[in-house]
Amino acid sequence: MRFFSTRDLARERPATLSQALGAGLAADGGLFVPESLPRFDPADYDGLETLPDIAERLLRPFFEGDALQPYLTEICTEAFNFPVELKPVAEGAEVLELFHGPTAAFKDFGARFLALCLGKLRREGDRSALVLVATSGDTGAAVAAAFHRQPGFGVRILYPDGLVSARQAHGLECWGENIEAFRVAGTFDDCQHLVKTALSDRQLRESMSLLSANSISLGRWLPQACYYAFAALRNLRSHGEPLRLIVPTGNLGNAMAALLLKATGWPIEEVALACNANQVLPDYFETAAYQPAPAKPTIANAMDVGAPSNFERLLWLFPEAHAEGQLRARSYDDGRIRSTLVDWHRRRHYLPCPHTACAFAMLGDLRAGGDDRRWTICATAHPAKFEAIVEPLLGEQIEVPPTIAAMLERAATGTPLTTDYAELVAALLRNQ
Ligand SMILES: *Cc1c(COP(=O)(O)O)cnc(C)c1O
Repeated sequence: MRFFSTRDLARERPATLSQALGAGLAADGGLFVPESLPRFDPADYDGLETLPDIAERLLRPFFEGDALQPYLTEICTEAFNFPVELKPVAEGAEVLELFHGPTAAFKDFGARFLALCLGKLRREGDRSALVLVATSGDTGAAVAAAFHRQPGFGVRILYPDGLVSARQAHGLECWGENIEAFRVAGTFDDCQHLVKTALSDRQLRESMSLLSANSISLGRWLPQACYYAFAALRNLRSHGEPLRLIVPTGNLGNAMAALLLKATGWPIEEVALACNANQVLPDYFETAAYQPAPAKPTIANAMDVGAPSNFERLLWLFPEAHAEGQLRARSYDDGRIRSTLVDWHRRRHYLPCPHTACAFAMLGDLRAGGDDRRWTICATAHPAKFEAIVEPLLGEQIEVPPTIAAMLERAATGTPLTTDYAELVAALLRNQ
């Protein structure tokens, strides 16, 4: 399988999977997409039950002919070594919990998979590579955990000082060794700008090998499709029905993985998008006009996105995405997130994180509109990661899962940084 950029419509610049994984973004600034979409055939999955087995079968055509092909089974087994849970939470509603990995958010799937792929591609004598990530919390921790102690790689995390929860900050700063966290005196956009500047700095790249691990990476998109395949098969086998998903969305990374499956004929009837107060997607589906805006801060901060980075992939896969009835997205403000969270906790004894609460709010709207079909809600992170928001709302402490407890036991230390680019360069060169 070859991959092309979303901007290379004439298909003049093919890349192998390995090349696309190493590059992150295509040279023309577009996003990598596969040259063809393998069609779903239920018979291919007969007897396959576990996430690693389903993942291996799903990803096989994408790995065909690539240097990574011989390692696919091993990569799936090692990357997906923690459970995905499907839990009934109400009549006709279940939750797909994606937060049982080492840093308690769905980002662990993509980060672990990408780290293993890049590790396999390393050759004797290659210079050590630095992975640069700008993060509003969850991505940075997942990437740090995935590359921690991996020979030949270092990770440099940039996060906005004071704008992530204390626990999230700890999860970014607790790794040490080949990982360093920079707490930047600025916003997430400042962090992202610094990372982009470094990644496109030719002079810097001559003196060091830099990699990116952001949400547009093919190495995150493909593995995320695997848990939706797992859920769709479970649903088909136990209910004989296609999956209807509600996915909390910011950059459209996670949701695009579900949409990839839908486009390839998997039994996924709908992927409904739940957004926070950042309305760019709901507005687009309503008006057909795509109008990126500066991100607004909300209590579901991992979705504070004004210009979803995977939007080009959405248009590539669904050129008529804005057409009536194709896709729906709704926006939920902080008040609605808070009331939904409290309501589900009190009445149903299920506590979603603030991001997942947007999806629960959307389920509420669907029910209020008379939709009584079965829906699956994608739970993107464990609520204990957002203690500063959740605990005051409930007036009680919430239990910390073993994964987060393990991070909290480690000592944490970060390096302060201003938004001055020269300072970042000096810090990167200091101890590569
Ligand atoms: C990253 C993240 C999201 C948003 O995912 P996208 O792929 O950017 O749409 C939602 N919830 C949580 C907890 C996250 O960490």
